[in-house]
Amino acid sequence: MIRIGVLGAGGRMGQAIIAEIQAAPDCILAGGVERAGHAMCGTPLGEGMVICANAAPVAHKADVLIDFTSPVALEENLRAAQDGKSAILIGTTGLQPRHHALIDAAAKSIPVLQAANTALGVTLLAALVEQAARALDASWDIEIVELHHRHKVDAPSGTALYLGEAAARGRGAPLSELRLPAHEGMTGPRRGGGIGFAALRGGSAAGDHRVILAGEGERIELGHVAENREIFARGAVRGARWVAKQKPGRYAMADMFRDALSKAAS
Ligand code: NAD
Repeated sequence: MIRIGVLGAGGRMGQAIIAEIQAAPDCILAGGVERAGHAMCGTPLGEGMVICANAAPVAHKADVLIDFTSPVALEENLRAAQDGKSAILIGTTGLQPRHHALIDAAAKSIPVLQAANTALGVTLLAALVEQAARALDASWDIEIVELHHRHKVDAPSGTALYLGEAAARGRGAPLSELRLPAHEGMTGPRRGGGIGFAALRGGSAAGDHRVILAGEGERIELGHVAENREIFARGAVRGARWVAKQKPGRYAMADMFRDALSKAAS
């Protein structure tokens, strides 16, 4: 049995992840954590547990934590995982360079899987985008368009940036060099070889992403549509099972699928 603690237990993703854990025969819920003062603190989780406001005791009971909260909670969540000697999967998006530095530091002592998108389809899409960007020269413009529900707080989405990083790898340069400013106002002509982003917000969309490779007189479009949150929850629990068994280090969803693919091939 893998004991999993859920950080952000009262949120949209937290609730979907708890349902996924409770339905999995090989997983057991080690606890749920919410920010202090949240209306769901004290809500029963079964087996005598309630959602609490402190990650430390949950981390001590868990083999792995799943964190879908907010970037401001990351430092505290990593510390709880390190003190409790549990692995952690970070699904929170909107992470800045200083958050990535905190993850790198924590990964020296515990296994950490950081994934802006835990869906299998998006991991595969990133590989296809990298391949397409590598095959096409810089005269092909790359634009990434995403649509999310009206409650989303960060833009462009973590997934759009993850796909942008894949495209930039294909182009052989870091995304920080190739990323274009938002197209708005008197922009002048588009810079050749750059990667642009556009974010749309509205309704209840779980997450649509489209990568457009626009050439002279033709276009390639690669995309992914998340029809519901369960695909992220399923991927997160699968990732948690996997990272709980790894050595300390920093991992991505592609590492997990790489393992599975090489096992299938052998
Ligand atoms: P949400 O607002 O519904 O849930 C987040 C929850 O975290 C809230 O209930 C909030 O109170 C709680 N929280 C905030 N600070 C906390 C803390 N210090 N300790 C414990 N809980 C805390 O948002 P959501 O739609 O569930 O998304 C959560 C995050 O996951 C966002 O960053 C979102 O972009 C990301 N996300 C990632 C994926 C993926 O596949 N990686 C998929 C969907 C959403």
